[in-house]
Order: sequence, then structure tokens, then C-alpha cells
Amino acid sequence: MKRLVFFLALFFFGLALEAQTSPAPTVAQAEEFMNKAEARLAELSIKVNQATWVHDNFITEDTEALAADANDENTAVTTELVEQAKRFEGLQLPPELARKFKLLKLSLTAPAPKDPALRRELTQIAASLESDYGKGKYCRKPDDCLDITSIENIMGASRDPNELKDLWTGWHKVGVPMRQRYVRFVALSNQGAREIGFKDTGAMWRSNYDMPPEAFSADLERLWQQVRPLYLSLHAYVRSKLMQKYGPQLVPPDGPIPAHLLGNPWAQEWENIFPLLGLPENSGVDVTALLKAKNLDPKGMVKYGENFFISMGFAPLPQTFWERSLFVKPRDRDVVCHASAWDIDNKDDLRIKTCLQIRDVDFVTVHHELGHNFYQRAYKHQPFLFENGANDGFHEAIGDAIALAITPDYLHKVGLLEKVPEGDNDIPQLLQQALDRVAFLPFGLLIDQWRWKVFSGEVTPADYNKSWWDMRLKYQGVAPPVARGEADFDPGAKYHVAGNVPYMRYFLAHILEFQFYRALCQASGYTGPLHRCTFLGSKEAGAKFNKMLEMGQSKPWPDALEVLTGERQIDGGALLEYFAPLKKWLDEQNKGQKVGW
Ligand SMILES: [Zn+2]
Repeated sequence: MKRLVFFLALFFFGLALEAQTSPAPTVAQAEEFMNKAEARLAELSIKVNQATWVHDNFITEDTEALAADANDENTAVTTELVEQAKRFEGLQLPPELARKFKLLKLSLTAPAPKDPALRRELTQIAASLESDYGKGKYCRKPDDCLDITSIENIMGASRDPNELKDLWTGWHKVGVPMRQRYVRFVALSNQGAREIGFKDTGAMWRSNYDMPPEAFSADLERLWQQVRPLYLSLHAYVRSKLMQKYGPQLVPPDGPIPAHLLGNPWAQEWENIFPLLGLPENSGVDVTALLKAKNLDPKGMVKYGENFFISMGFAPLPQTFWERSLFVKPRDRDVVCHASAWDIDNKDDLRIKTCLQIRDVDFVTVHHELGHNFYQRAYKHQPFLFENGANDGFHEAIGDAIALAITPDYLHKVGLLEKVPEGDNDIPQLLQQALDRVAFLPFGLLIDQWRWKVFSGEVTPADYNKSWWDMRLKYQGVAPPVARGEADFDPGAKYHVAGNVPYMRYFLAHILEFQFYRALCQASGYTGPLHRCTFLGSKEAGAKFNKMLEMGQSKPWPDALEVLTGERQIDGGALLEYFAPLKKWLDEQNKGQKVGW
């Protein structure tokens, strides 16, 4: 979701003058300031959304320039607006208004210094880091250059350890030239954060969770300790199977797993190595085959996603969604294929931008993206600054909670699967899910643990890469396939570091989605094992879901969580319940073997 905004300079000059000449401001003035700000922000966000949409659907030098322009102006104007809002500090405001002032202050991901030359330097560095990543290629031979999509595909399918090591090492070269600019980026962004009252950029990011930054850090540690035993069981089982495949020389039975052998350039999700784990693949339900047997086109796949929401009582998507979305990769132009959901006018102009193929992972993606769209429409009556997820983890978790309900039972109910397979397919299915959703947990956690230390100065540039690998060892139990040093900059080989996108939202979402899912199952009256639950057609679940969704960001997130789940804490209990049969099975398989590294 995009929320880019910019203001007319004139607007600020007007306020600046007023600030100099008027006495202490009143609550009424603060309210007036905020009303004008929100009206203007709402209006301008549409223009920025349109520019970005056109760029992403039609990449040329011209559309890139237009979109980049909007970005720079957004940073300039938001920074200025936050500055203007300072005159209301110390004023006792009603809670809703105070919340808007807070959200305004937190709205920039890379806060910029007021000095225009420094601000331009910051935005230019940010753009150059992102495009270095986007243009990144590894050339195995002069005429065999691979972009990251190709590298991901080969690393997902290849079982040749030398080829995997070569690709891993080749891709990680993309970070090397970023290092010096990243150091400068950190310094400039920290300066911007300090100018608006935060200790550093990381502290500012952590302030986005309706609690003091230290309390948020402590909460994350609690969540990690809760789910860590499950991760350790999975890690030990996968390690033993990889050792059987590649030998103890390459995969030590009691040490970390080499990061190039897990089917993914970042070792962040492991579903691609399922065939190495000695269980029947797809366990009887091959969703790709079912979709193809129905002769579905991409729009037809999206219809299934929409129908899930409609069955729960949500209104159908507007006609314009079907006319304006991008469903398939165009043949004649470059587009940003990375799937995303949009709300162009902050009201009804909902769209998705995808390059769908008829296959199981894209069927899940459809449900995920529509989760964003239905959330956006549910909170469209909120004031502009509240038109957002309760926190950024919520927005990512909505569609994933629905995607968890794509069970064999669901596929049968919607007519895709003739007969729910008999017998016990739970373990293969749960293991597949765990390779995706449990394997990700420590990775989702460590990206920002590292970045927060970089922003705070606890990790200095002299130790960037060392601390990165210390954390990957500590949390994930993985090790690089070749020696790394401070000439390397391996964090830059991950998009969200190069592109400066906060990452903790994905860790939170991977926990929250199970919490939402369990609450929806309970609301629908389901009482069986959690992992077999689907709530298709439950108006009760839909009504409860909508109650939370329509709140947007108007209240602290624990209030929103409570409406759906009755709980005020993010909690890993639902995730553990979902995977309980797998945990038991893994622990039996792991008997006599070392767990941990
Ligand atoms: Zn998403």
C-alpha cells in the first residue's frame, strides 16, 4: 500500500507567519490545522498513487522521473509539515487529535534533515541503493547474466552444491558497492530523525507500535522465545535430511546449516527443499493441477478469492477493480511484477497489480492481496490519517489469515476438489506450511534487530558484515558458504535493506495471521483441529472480522486486536496450536540427534 503525500510550499509559509505573530495556540487551532492537513493530504495522495501506479505498470525513464519527483516532494513537504506541527506540542489535545499528530510525525520511513541539500543527498542515495538492487545481475559467463528472479528460480530447483554456492556468492556481490553510501544514508536519516525528536531512525520505527520502543523490543523477545522451540525442531530435522543428501562434510550434524542449501538466496523460506525431506510431495492435493483442470484464467483465480470474502458477508469488489487491475504480465512492456494491492482514491478505486500464473503459490498470493483490498475498503470512512492498518503487521496478516483457510475441505466446498482425500495427510501438509511460515520467523526478526543496532550506532560500519552473520547464526542457525569480510556488504543483497523498507511487520504478521485465523475459526463455530479449519461462508466470522478492519488505525492496535480475538497481546499460542501435531512428529524424528547448533 502506498501513502505518499506532498504539500504546497505556500501552505507552510502561511502557517509559519501565523506561528510568529500569534500567541500560544489553542486546541481549536490545532484541530483546524489538522483538518486542513488531512484534506490536503488526501487530495494529494491520489495524484501520487496515480503517478506510482503508472510507473509500476509502464516503466520508462519518463514515468520513473515523474514518480521519483513525487517521492522527493513528499519527503520535503512532510518534513516541513511535521516542523509546523511542533507549535502545538505541549498542548493538551483530545486523544483522537493527539493520535493524528503522532501519526503525522511517524509517517516518513526515511526522515530527512531540514537542510535541502542534505535532504536531496538522502533521497538520491536512497534511490541509487534501490536501483542498484533492481539492476543487480550475476554473470556466470559473459553471455549468461542472471537477475534475482532467475537466481531464485535456479536456487529453488538445483541440488548441485557447487552451482548453489556459485549463485549464492555471485548474487551477494550486489551489496559491495552499496556499503559506503549506506553508511552515509544512516547518518543523514538519523539526523532527520533527531530533528523531529527521536533518538535515531530505528527508535522512530519502533515508536510506531503504540508503546515505548523498549517495551516493543521486550515484546518481540517474548514472542521469539515462545516460537523458538518449534523452529529448533524444524531446523534439526531439515539439517539431518540435508546431511543425508549432501554429506556431513558439507552439513555438520551439530552445526549451522550452510545458507546456500535451503532453496532460497536468503535462506528465508525453505519450501523449495520439501522434495529432499523424504515425504510424498503435495500429499494428494495438487492445487496447481486442480486450477489447471478447471481451465481457470488469472481473473478466474481472483474470483475465487473474492468469493471467499463475499461468502463471509463482504460486498463484492467494484466493477473498476476488474477493469483497472493488472492480472497478467504484459508482453510488450516492463512492469513491476512484485504483487501489490492498491487503493488509489482511498475509497473505492481498489486494484491489484500482479503477474499471475496458474499455480498454487499464486492462488495464495491472490488471497493475500485481496486481504489488503478488503481492509482498505473497510476503513475508508475513517479520517485520512487513520486510513491504515492497526499496525503494519496487521495489514500483512489479513490476507494470510484467509490463505490459511485454503484447506482440502475448502477446495472441496468451492468445487475445485472432487473429494477430500481420506487418511492422514496432516504431517506432509503441515511440514510444507512450516517450511514457509515457521522457517521465516527468525529471518523476519533479525533484519531489523540488525538495522536498529546500525541506526543506534551499537554496530559501527567496521562491523556491519560481522554483526550481520553473528545474528544470522544466533537466530537462524545458518552460516555463509564462503568466508565473509568487511569488504562485503551482505545485508544489501536483501531488497528491504537496499530499498529501506522496515521488516518487523513480516515477523509480526507471521504470528498475527494465526491469531486472526483461530479467532475466525472460533467465531464460525468450528471445534476440530485448528489446521483443518476453514470458515468459508461464515457470516459470524465475517462480521467480527469487519469490526476490527473498519477501525483502521484510529485506535491503538491492542484495541483492534481485542475486537477480533478478545486478546490484547500479540501471542504465538495459535501458531503453536496449529503446528502442534507437526512439533510432536518432528521431536520423534529428531530423537537421539542434537537440536540447535
Ligand atoms: Zn502484502
